[in-house]
Amino acid sequence: MSEQIRKLKDISKTVKEWAYSKINNQRKNIMIYKRKGRRVTAFCTACGEHIEGINRIDSYEDTLRTVMMPIHNTSSTCPICKAEGLWKAEGRCRDSYKTWIEYLVGQRLGDDFVFRTFSCEVTVRKNVINEIEHNETGRVYLSKGKKAEKWYHVWSYFEQGLVWSKSVGGAYYGGINIRWDYIYPGTFKALAKTPMFKYAQPTNRNPVYYYSAFARYPDMEMVQKLGMSKLQSALLCQYGANINPKGKTIWDRLRINKDRMKDLKEHQGDLEYLHIYQQERREGHRLSNDEIDREVYIKRLSPRDRNIMRTAIQHASFERFKNYKEKQKKNVYNFDVTYIDYIRMRLDAGYDLNDDVILFPKDLKRRHDELVEQARLAAEKEKRQQLAIQWAKIEQKYPKLYKKFYYANGDFLIRPAKNALEIADEGRELHHCVGTGSHYYEKHCKGESFILFLRRAEAPEIPFATIEISGNRILQWYEAYDEKPDEEILQPWLDKYTKQLATRSKKKSA
Ligand SMILES: [Zn+2]
Repeated sequence: MSEQIRKLKDISKTVKEWAYSKINNQRKNIMIYKRKGRRVTAFCTACGEHIEGINRIDSYEDTLRTVMMPIHNTSSTCPICKAEGLWKAEGRCRDSYKTWIEYLVGQRLGDDFVFRTFSCEVTVRKNVINEIEHNETGRVYLSKGKKAEKWYHVWSYFEQGLVWSKSVGGAYYGGINIRWDYIYPGTFKALAKTPMFKYAQPTNRNPVYYYSAFARYPDMEMVQKLGMSKLQSALLCQYGANINPKGKTIWDRLRINKDRMKDLKEHQGDLEYLHIYQQERREGHRLSNDEIDREVYIKRLSPRDRNIMRTAIQHASFERFKNYKEKQKKNVYNFDVTYIDYIRMRLDAGYDLNDDVILFPKDLKRRHDELVEQARLAAEKEKRQQLAIQWAKIEQKYPKLYKKFYYANGDFLIRPAKNALEIADEGRELHHCVGTGSHYYEKHCKGESFILFLRRAEAPEIPFATIEISGNRILQWYEAYDEKPDEEILQPWLDKYTKQLATRSKKKSA
């Protein structure tokens, strides 16, 4: 069963001419030209005239003739109809050009209203005057208290022509989005004369969108007057407010108890409050304002934070929580983030939130930062333990390596790393990469190369230079920041050291 669309008159010539004038002249008018010596012939698609002229003035007689100096794709003016357009060289000109716009026209239908969209398409061809076609593409019917009824004019294979098809989604304005300057000015006059829009205060948003919401929700006017701006934007989106269109009064339509109207007004028609008031009426109970404020406060947090906040503030009245927040707010950058973070750490450590000192610490910022620091230290400790376990072999190898690599001479001594933590500390103290990643630890464990520490004899515990050695050969050595400020002293010392190692290993093998 298909509904029939209401019959409407075709739009007037005035509207069509207005729409045509909106199309850029350079896209709809072209002058196609041919040159032969000084002679130019051209065809204007705006008036359909063939024009002859010259493109150079050589004599007095020439000034009496039509002068045309065409350059492909530059702007032109027809000497006959004065239409502006573009020059097109005949050889470089396509057979046809199409250009179009979509425009909007609104009409009053007694108490109802209709928005109609049309396309205006211009086809420009060589040697043919411009062809202009207007086609209706869609309609949106508006009636008071009803959803907008939306129709599309679509091609049907069965009918071999355009047929009207009602959009079953039928929600609202969807898909109709018209450039502001392609709205026929008479539309606004017609809207002003339609009774149901008497109190509309249109903004410069899409009128189809605004007026379809205004028609569907006659309460828009009231909502606007009461200053419920948040509810008004929800009504405009026609989403989120859960309106009952059959309600007899505004509170019935909003599905809330009458006495909640003033509370809703106080919150500018906020949807979170509206939903709680709706729930009250639906479930026939009544919450205290303290409970409602708390619910809304929690709802506005991210889902991840909601449970923690709920757990925390169920231990006190919301009033007390608000006072606490007011006091602490000055000291923290973002109260919610800091407080939730603080409570999370407390819960993780198994604290009892019934204890006021825990729930509302006097100095939230300081307590929070202390806990963060504690957590950081614990994590550090954990990491070091992991490191020691993972590279336990370094410690096992130490006695043997000590015998092999230990050497002291004059101001310096050298020894292998005792364990992985020493390597990590050395890297951190000297700001180089030996302690990061697993590269050097792994080589040390496998015996591919070893990490040795070169230190001053007078301060053997303080990192000074780090050496990677393989056999008797030093692969690399660095002081702090991967630099060698003491190279002049250290290099000869190290050369002596490696020579010493070579002698030692010869003796051993002998
Ligand atoms: Zn012309």
